[in-house]
Amino acid sequence: MEAIDGKDLDPRFKYDVAAHAGGENLKLCFACGTCTAGCPVSEIDPEFNPRLIIRQVLLGMRKEVLSSPVLWRCVQCYSCTAKCPQNVKFREIVRALREMAVEEGLAEATLPDEVEELGRFAQRVRRNLVNALVSDRAKYDAMKKELAPLAE
Ligand code: SF4
Ligand code: SF4
Repeated sequence: MEAIDGKDLDPRFKYDVAAHAGGENLKLCFACGTCTAGCPVSEIDPEFNPRLIIRQVLLGMRKEVLSSPVLWRCVQCYSCTAKCPQNVKFREIVRALREMAVEEGLAEATLPDEVEELGRFAQRVRRNLVNALVSDRAKYDAMKKELAPLAE
C-alpha cells in the first residue's frame, strides 16, 4: 500500500458517511478490531478489513474507499454490527459507501443488484455442494475439483 498524501484526503468524507442511515456512530470507532475478527469474509480474505475501512473513512480517503472492489465483498451478514462495542453499524456503513460509490460515478449503477444476485448464486452452489457431501461423496469430490480454481 502506498503512503497517504495529505492533499488527497477529503475531511468531509466521514460527515457524508455519517449522514446516511446507520452511519451516525462512525466516529465512535476506537479501532478495537472486533468487527474484523468476527467477519466471515476477512477470515478468508486478508484484503477485506472492516477496521481498516473505517480508519480510511475517518482519514478522508474518499476515492480510495469508494473505488475499491473490496467494498463489494461484504456479504451483509450483520456479525460486525452485532458485536461492535461502540454500536458502529459497519454493515450499514458498507451499504452507505456502496450507495455513495454509485452516486459519485465510481461504481456501475447495476452493481448493487448484481452483487445481491451473486450472493444468491453462491448460496445455491453451496446448497448443492452440501447435498452432494451428505449423499454422494464421489459427486461432491468431482464438483469440488471442478470449482477449486475459483476458490484460490
Ligand atoms: S468493532 Fe466497532 S469499535 Fe471495534 S473496530 Fe470495529 S467498528 Fe470500531
Ligand atoms: S456484514 Fe460484512 S463486514 Fe460485517 S461481518 Fe458480515 S461480511 Fe463482514
